[in-house]
Amino acid sequence: MPHPVDYQAVLDQIHGEVQPLLGRGRVASYIPELAKVPGNQFGMAVVTLDGSVHSCGDAREAFSIQSVSKLFALTLAYQCVGDALWERVGREPSGSAFNSLVQLESELGKPRNPFINAGALVVTDVLCTRFVNPETALVEFVRRLSGNATLQYDDRVARSELATGFRNRAMAHFMRSFGNLVNPVDDVMDAYCRHCAIRMDAVDLARAVAFLAHGGVNPWSGEVIVDASSAKRLSALMLTCGTYDAAGDFAYRVGIPAKSGVGGGIVGHIPGRLGVCVWSPELEPSGNSLAGSVALERFTTLTGQSLF
Ligand code: GLN
Repeated sequence: MPHPVDYQAVLDQIHGEVQPLLGRGRVASYIPELAKVPGNQFGMAVVTLDGSVHSCGDAREAFSIQSVSKLFALTLAYQCVGDALWERVGREPSGSAFNSLVQLESELGKPRNPFINAGALVVTDVLCTRFVNPETALVEFVRRLSGNATLQYDDRVARSELATGFRNRAMAHFMRSFGNLVNPVDDVMDAYCRHCAIRMDAVDLARAVAFLAHGGVNPWSGEVIVDASSAKRLSALMLTCGTYDAAGDFAYRVGIPAKSGVGGGIVGHIPGRLGVCVWSPELEPSGNSLAGSVALERFTTLTGQSLF
């Protein structure tokens, strides 16, 4: 691929290539509202640091960002408490499912990393201590990152998860028994389900992650979100823990820091170059978007750009 890369041509090619994959995965159904999303959708967006936007397919279709919100929640909590966060959450891949409870008992209520559900609940607890309205603080933060002041969370999705999130509630109670959750479980669950239920499209998400590709600084507003060293650290966590227990395989196939969600979104970035987001709601068994993972693999192959 000659340089400079023609991102639009790459996205159009990928859009064609993934069509046979649609229909091969399964839309998440354990949150009843998510099961209603038509599976055969696909959108992808790339935003380069000069602000150019390239997109294809359903890139302007808003979807439930789910665990992608854990990246923004972590960034905000890290802004608030810095390295003290690591006394309560680890930084190692878990090697088990994102909603697993097994390690929590032997590891005395300290979750392996901030991107599994237990870790994100602790991060949300930090936000509950820090803000009167943690979910509003997070929505406002993501609005600033993306430059889209109209972003909202979807109340139906949040209520759907609140009514069925028995595992997450169990984890929260369990961690509270170890003293690693200080706010009432109901408050933490409320804030967690709301931030998971934020609706965004691929273009806004590609913009929202671009600060990590730009040394922690929002490339368009100039706002310092985190310092350069923290941006590197957050990106390292994305690479090692951002795509559930498939993170090793994802790094092997795709080779960029990324964070996925069961709504079918995956965000990633290439340092110094761009933010990227792909969305396709059907998942592979690990919980990552099936067509989305392939699309990102093709993206780093076709552009010749990755971390490595
Ligand atoms: N809200 C979802 C949950 O807690 C998020 C999971 C995900 O996207 N991996 O189960």
